[in-house]
Amino acid sequence: MITVTTLGFPRIGARRELKYALESHWRGDTCADDLYTAARELRHRHWTLQRDAGADNVPCNDFSLYDHVLDTAFLFDAVPGDYRPLIDNDPLAGYFALARGVQRDGIDLHALEMTKWFDTNYHYLVPELQAEQTFRLRGDKPVAEFLEARASGFDARPVLLGPVSFLRLCKRIDGADPLHALERLLPVYAELLEKLRQAGAEWVQIDEPCLTLDLNADAATAYRRAYAALAATARPKLMLTTYFGPLDANLPLAAELPVEGLHIDLVRGHGQLGDVLASLPPERILSLGLIDGRNIWRTDLDRALILARHALHRLGQDRLWLAPSCSLLHVPIDASTETRLDPELRGWLAFARQKIEELRILADALEEKPSAQAALQAARTAQSTRQQSKKVHRLEVATRMTALDPVAAQRRSAYPVRRERQQARLSLPYYPTTTIGSFPQTTEVRRARAQHKSGKLSDADYDMFLAKQIAACVRFQEEIGLNVLVHGEFERNDMVEYFGEQLDGFVFTRNGWVQSYGSRCVKPPIIYGDVSRPRPMTVHWTHYAQSLTSKPLKGMLTGPVTILQWSFVRDDQPRADTCRQIALALRDEVADLEAAGIPAIQIDEPALREGLPLRAADRPAYLEWAVECFRIAAAAATDATQIHTHMCYAEFNDIIAAVAAMDADVISIETSRSRMELLDAFVTFHYPHQIGPGVYDIHSPRIPDRHEMLALLRKASAVLAPEQIWVNPDCGLKTRSWEETHAALVEMVAAAETMRRSL
Ligand code: GLN
Ligand code: ZN
Repeated sequence: MITVTTLGFPRIGARRELKYALESHWRGDTCADDLYTAARELRHRHWTLQRDAGADNVPCNDFSLYDHVLDTAFLFDAVPGDYRPLIDNDPLAGYFALARGVQRDGIDLHALEMTKWFDTNYHYLVPELQAEQTFRLRGDKPVAEFLEARASGFDARPVLLGPVSFLRLCKRIDGADPLHALERLLPVYAELLEKLRQAGAEWVQIDEPCLTLDLNADAATAYRRAYAALAATARPKLMLTTYFGPLDANLPLAAELPVEGLHIDLVRGHGQLGDVLASLPPERILSLGLIDGRNIWRTDLDRALILARHALHRLGQDRLWLAPSCSLLHVPIDASTETRLDPELRGWLAFARQKIEELRILADALEEKPSAQAALQAARTAQSTRQQSKKVHRLEVATRMTALDPVAAQRRSAYPVRRERQQARLSLPYYPTTTIGSFPQTTEVRRARAQHKSGKLSDADYDMFLAKQIAACVRFQEEIGLNVLVHGEFERNDMVEYFGEQLDGFVFTRNGWVQSYGSRCVKPPIIYGDVSRPRPMTVHWTHYAQSLTSKPLKGMLTGPVTILQWSFVRDDQPRADTCRQIALALRDEVADLEAAGIPAIQIDEPALREGLPLRAADRPAYLEWAVECFRIAAAAATDATQIHTHMCYAEFNDIIAAVAAMDADVISIETSRSRMELLDAFVTFHYPHQIGPGVYDIHSPRIPDRHEMLALLRKASAVLAPEQIWVNPDCGLKTRSWEETHAALVEMVAAAETMRRSL
């Protein structure tokens, strides 16, 4: 029999039940038992849902109260020493302290650093290892969840993050390679596997996504050592699970490891099946990741069947598993509840539940069950209506794309000419001050937006409200003495949603939540069709703000790559093409802002770095189109209009050349938390344009004083010329209060003045 399964299921719940259970626990409204009960109910509901949708067996231990990498670190006691007393005393409180930090009863512990899980929009906590890190089993979460599943009648497969991928995701506080800890870690993995076997687990899914990355010789050796050691223990069968890309050069390594099964990603690595079949040792089970675990479209089942038949022919039914490409953590749970969507469009979607149903259809078709035929036919119909739909394919957009000339990505003149024209128009002092766009989103602002959305506040009243907020914000900035002002972004809920709602080709779900980290979820827009801009999106409020001041005002747009990156995108054309369409829509907006007399326009690209492919060989092509798209949007501006961009993430030293190629006149970047570490890149690379290294960490309630900011600016002056430096916070101020904003910006303006005087 062919086995249908999944590699992991969303934890948060269709109605974000886990979020609410966590947050009420953190507030102290509910006790630990209430939280455990809510978590157990979710696990049970999700196992049942998966079985009912057609899965033959289900994963367990894929559930987490916060993050599965943190769970792994916690389980092996790979936690910094200063958390231990708290963890020993109250494991749950200790666990959440690692996730979120804690400040009470004389305890003051920072949260672990958080970073992106491969190239997804999920964030994991980075475990910190000491030089002589020791490990031991703490608790028995995988065993307990296995037994819990069994008690509910599910023969579940515990999921563990594999030892090599786990260590590669850790960091050593002394900067050494975390893989050095492997020998000490392996006995604890072995002990855990033995326990799982004793508990009755037949299979364990051991996730090694790092097998799809570029590996050096040390990593390859680590893989061999690790799996040889685990092979020597009395353990369940291991399904070595790889995802997020093809194995490529790591295929011989993956095939040689002594395990009982191998899972491969056939969505991102659809070309690898032949090679994998050729290298697969006899007896080994192959799990085919046929259905996209990271996107929300129905699968082309006929195409998937071709691959599956090929594998079936070589392996036979008993050696074949069908699964999504990766965990379903990255998609929402059920498309059928999206009753407000156009039913035709809804019919093109497959969330977690529908994906399992698709796998069932594939398995039934492979087993020649007659019932599969009708389902396959329905899938074909959905596929072909989508392919032919006029909602998806729009002639005007196609024509514009074909006519797109490389010149469109070129500003009229080179930077030195632009700089002179912009300076003549703006007359800015040295060290000009500005902000990144948003000002505090107070409860009042959020309430008004919610009331407007629900119809309780009329359009006219909402507009009046926004006009007042903007006027007050402009006055505030003038009083503080900033040089380039903004309107404050009070009308925006989210920097992608605000634009997506106004562009053609986007839809929004009601419950399409995906976990971003911990209890935080996002509801990414779905780009389903050709993108265009029916009407101006930001001109009204930007123009209004400019009309209130004689200081230059900076218009705010979200860049094409960021909009793409934070949405579910079409799978029927290259990402680069979708991005170009968004870029053209934004180009029209830039042209309209320009025509409205706005002298500076900021196109935010905080997600540009995130889109970087996992493999080095794929990066140049990505950077090329990503940069081109930014330039297409920006190049509608005349020379005298100053184009800004903004990025916030920790490391951009490695893409500095691409950042320069974006050809923005000014870039603002997050630097204050890293104490300007980013500037190291400028020692060797001479960034040619202007740059505002953030001097105020807006993520923290701390207000730095002028001396602290001055110290940062002096650091910047060591590698940049005075005429290159801007003075601004790290990012938007929307999460800060007005008091904090006022206090910090006063200090910032003072720091800039001191810098000017010192010239
Ligand atoms: N302009 C946006 C803001 O200030 C930028 C947000 C971001 O970089 N994430 O809020
Ligand atoms: Zn930012």
